[in-house]
Amino acid sequence: MPVGNEDDVNAAVDAAHAAFITGPWAKTTPSERADIMLRIANEIEKRATELSLTNTLENGSPVAETSGAAANAASIFRYFATLAPELEADDVRPFPNGQGESLVRKDPIGVCALIAPWNFPINLMVTKLAPALLPGCTVIMKPASPTPLSFRIIVDAITAAGVPAGVVNLVTGPGRMGDLMVRHPKVAKVAFTGSTPVGRHIAAACGELLRPVTLELGGKSSAIVMEDADLNEMSARLIRSCMRNTGQTCYISTRILAPASRYDEIVNMVTETIATAPQGDPLDPATVFGPSANHAQYKSVLAHLDSAKAEGARVTTGGEPAQLGGELADGLFIQPTVLADVTPEMRVAREEIFGPVITIHKYDDLDDAISLANNTEFGLGGIVFGTDQDKALEVAEAMNTGSVGLNFFASNHAAPFGGRNDSGLGVEYGPEGLAAYLSYKSIHQR
Ligand code: NDP
Repeated sequence: MPVGNEDDVNAAVDAAHAAFITGPWAKTTPSERADIMLRIANEIEKRATELSLTNTLENGSPVAETSGAAANAASIFRYFATLAPELEADDVRPFPNGQGESLVRKDPIGVCALIAPWNFPINLMVTKLAPALLPGCTVIMKPASPTPLSFRIIVDAITAAGVPAGVVNLVTGPGRMGDLMVRHPKVAKVAFTGSTPVGRHIAAACGELLRPVTLELGGKSSAIVMEDADLNEMSARLIRSCMRNTGQTCYISTRILAPASRYDEIVNMVTETIATAPQGDPLDPATVFGPSANHAQYKSVLAHLDSAKAEGARVTTGGEPAQLGGELADGLFIQPTVLADVTPEMRVAREEIFGPVITIHKYDDLDDAISLANNTEFGLGGIVFGTDQDKALEVAEAMNTGSVGLNFFASNHAAPFGGRNDSGLGVEYGPEGLAAYLSYKSIHQR
C-alpha cells in the first residue's frame, strides 16, 4: 500500500468536498442511498473470504474472529439503510404558543474524516462510514498503519455497488495524515476510534476549530460475578466476553470481580478456561489466541506482566512470552495469562493491557463490587454474571459505563455504543449514531 502524504490528504478532501457540493450523491434521496447501501452489503458478503484472510494476515486476528467481519460489516450497512424513512419523514413542530410552526430539516453534515485503529480494521470504519453515507455525507478515511489492506477490499465493494466517484476516499499512511485530515478546513466532522492519548489530541484540535467529533477510545471494563452465577455458563462465554480477539478489544471485561465466598472456585474456572483455549496459527480455524498484532503491542503487554509480578499479583496460568514451534517460532505470542489477587492500585488493574491477560479481584459485597468496577478512568463496557436477572439488572444500572451485558456481551447495531470519561465522547450505532452525521436546520413559518 502507498505511504501517503499531505498532497494525498488534500486531493482526497478536495474530491470529497467536490462530490458533496456538486456531485449527485447529496441530491439523491435517503431511500436511494439506502438501496445503494444494501448493494454494498451484498458486495461485501461476496468478498467474505478475501476480507477474513486479509484481515488475519495483516493483524494476526484469528480467522475464527475475522470470518465474521464481512457479515458484521454488511449487517451495519443494512441496519443504517433501515433508518432512511426517519430522514425522509416530515418533521413539523408547532410553536408552543400556537403561532406558527417549524420545519425541521436533517441535512448531511458535510465532508467527514474517519480514522480507525488496527484491532478491528473493517468493523470500526464501517461503523462510521454507513451512518455518514445515509444522509448524503462524503468521506475521507484513514485506516491504521498496521492494517491498510483489508479496508481496501471494502472500498472495492463500494465501487462495485455504484457509489459515485469522490464520495468515498481512502488514504493510507502514518498517523500524521490523520492529524491533517482532522484539521483540514473543508472537513466538517471527525469520527475516531483509537487510543485515549490520540483521542485527546484530536479533541483539542476539534475544540479549537469548533468541529463536531465522535471519539471511541480505550477501556478497562469489569465483569461482576454475583454469588449465584452459573460458572459453567460463564466459562462458555468467558473468552468472547472477556478475551475476544486475543484480548485486543476495547470493550471486553478484562477485570473479573469475584465474591470472596466463591473466589477460589472462580479463579480455578477462569484459569482452566484460559489455559485450555488453543493458541497458535491465526489461520487455523481452531485457534482462539493468536499473536499480538504488532511488536509495540507485544512489548507493552509483556511490560504489564512484569509490573504485575513486581506488584504482587499471583500468576495462575501463563505470564511469559509463548515459545511456539515451527513456522510460528518467531511469532509475537504471549501465553494467555490469568492474574489473581489483583488490587486496585496495581498498574494492571488501571491500564488497558490489550493482550491475552485477565485480572481477578476479590470483593466482599455487591456495593464493594460496584465501587471496584467504577474505580476506573474509563467507562466503556461491562458484564454482570448472575442467575437472578432482576438483581443483575440492578447491578448493571449502578455501573458507570456506556454498555453492560447480562451474562454475555455483544454490541447491538440498533443501540447506542459509546464510552464515558476517558473512553470517549458521543456514541455510534442506533439513531443516536446517525445523528452525529446530521446538521439540523429549523425553518419557521406562520
Ligand atoms: P491509535 O490511537 O494509536 O491509532 C488510531 C488511529 O489514529 C490510527 O489510524 C492512527 O494512525 C491514527 N493516528 C495516530 N496519530 C494520530 C493523530 N495525531 N491524529 C489523527 N490520527 C492519528 O490506536 P491504535 O491503532 O493503537 O488502536 C488501539 C487503541 O484503540 C486501544 O487503546 C483501544 O482501546 C482503542 N479502541 C477503542 C475502541 C472503541 O470503540 N472505544 C475500539 C477499538 C479500539 P497510525 O496507525 O498510522 O498511527
